[in-house]
Amino acid sequence: MTELGAPALLGIPFDAQSSYLRGAGEAPGKIREALRCDASNSCSESGVDLGVAGVYRDAGNLEFAEMDAFAAIEAGVGALIDQGKRPVSLGGDHSITYPIVKAFTRRYPELTIFHFDAHPDLYEEFEGNRLSHACPFARIMESGLAKRLVQVGIRTMNRHQREQAQRFGVDVVEMRRLPAYERLKAAGAVYITFDMDVLDPAFAPGVSHREPGGMSVREAITHLYAIEGEIVGADVVEYNPVQDLAGMTATVAAKIVKEILGKMLAG
Ligand code: MN
Ligand code: MN
Repeated sequence: MTELGAPALLGIPFDAQSSYLRGAGEAPGKIREALRCDASNSCSESGVDLGVAGVYRDAGNLEFAEMDAFAAIEAGVGALIDQGKRPVSLGGDHSITYPIVKAFTRRYPELTIFHFDAHPDLYEEFEGNRLSHACPFARIMESGLAKRLVQVGIRTMNRHQREQAQRFGVDVVEMRRLPAYERLKAAGAVYITFDMDVLDPAFAPGVSHREPGGMSVREAITHLYAIEGEIVGADVVEYNPVQDLAGMTATVAAKIVKEILGKMLAG
């Protein structure tokens, strides 16, 4: 096993590829605030204390300047990987995972992706847009960027996306088939992409596309801890503060970030 670097948080305040509601671009600051809130301590369930200086870094928010947004995301994440860090991105809508994974694949050509979501996000195009947050995994798979894609918690599979999943050989574990612990084992580099709407809206109402019948926070954490492989990076996307109730979903998103970091650092 290669030596894995320190995780680095990177905020990606981008929601321009959302098909239904904007707002996810405001998420990174709210998640950070909840992560640092004194209502809870800094220990993850793995026993790793995230409050210890240097266990992880916060690289701040990505600035887009005049650059094309996807080019800026790929460059920003790539720069952290080049520094030996393990980027953990705070979205943003789910479209950002395509340029993020591009950056990872340059360093890790044999990437396994574990994808938590109510939606497969496999549309060839959505409302005429191939870069929509409904399409990132079609782009990733058609470009051969992932050795293996496992989707967990899916409960909106339609005919088109079922065909896409078959075409790309995606391992889909629908919500009704959970638990999926045995499917979360990989040899080599693993990337986790966590769409907040995989959770039931009773736990996480602050998302653009509420989809009832989802995971409890506990089910999600148990699945995260079931992962086997070298976790080289992650993202937590689609938290939408505009839809949130009393900051509840920010607290849940921060908890997911905390346990992903705890899992990465526990090895
Ligand atoms: Mn998604
Ligand atoms: Mn989703």
